[in-house]
Amino acid sequence: MALIIRIDVDRPYGKRPILRHLLSRLSSDFYFPKIEILGYLKELRIILQMLNERKARAYLFFRRCTLPSEAVLKLITQGNHKIGLHLENSRSFNSFVIEKKMLERHTGKSILAVSKHGSGGAKYGLYHYAPYEPDKYMEWARQSRMKLFLGNLEDPSIKSSVDEAGFHVFPSAFWLEPAWRDTKKFTVDWLLAEAKSSDIVLLIHPENVLADPTLIEKFKRLLLSLETRTLE
Ligand SMILES: [Zn+2]
Repeated sequence: MALIIRIDVDRPYGKRPILRHLLSRLSSDFYFPKIEILGYLKELRIILQMLNERKARAYLFFRRCTLPSEAVLKLITQGNHKIGLHLENSRSFNSFVIEKKMLERHTGKSILAVSKHGSGGAKYGLYHYAPYEPDKYMEWARQSRMKLFLGNLEDPSIKSSVDEAGFHVFPSAFWLEPAWRDTKKFTVDWLLAEAKSSDIVLLIHPENVLADPTLIEKFKRLLLSLETRTLE
């Protein structure tokens, strides 16, 4: 069994320095062009290079304000990664379809995987619909013949499931960033042991991992020790 790497691409310009943080907010709520020289998706590019050097594969989930640039698409093709929708406007089936089509038009690929931006509570940006309603997303995804839903629960020991149509659901993830993980119970050693007998989702946000040397270290250790895989 293996690690299923999930990368949520939340911030077009990362968090630091403050100017890039502001550009991320501006892009999310209004509009700002995708400018490579200002560091558009810089953190994601670094993570993709790390993955490609180690021949590890991942799912990358994009929002409308973090659509992959040419450089990112090239790295995705090189590493044979999968693109998924990081669903923002989950008000209705219609709004879900609009976001999915936007990503399909942009990438020229069928989008078969979905995750949700935010776990309920705070509203992040103009288009964001805050409630976390996984049953709806699974129904919409099945209806659209997608293949995978990766959920936001924080107990990585919850088992995955698959139905007759081959639709996979992983309700939870091992969140590498400690704010969303019971770090006493679910250590990297726990993950190393557990991923030998079952597939476990490892969730990261590039800008958070790269901002913390201990998280980079953990991420590298996991890539070195475990197989990674994608499902389709
Ligand atoms: Zn998100």
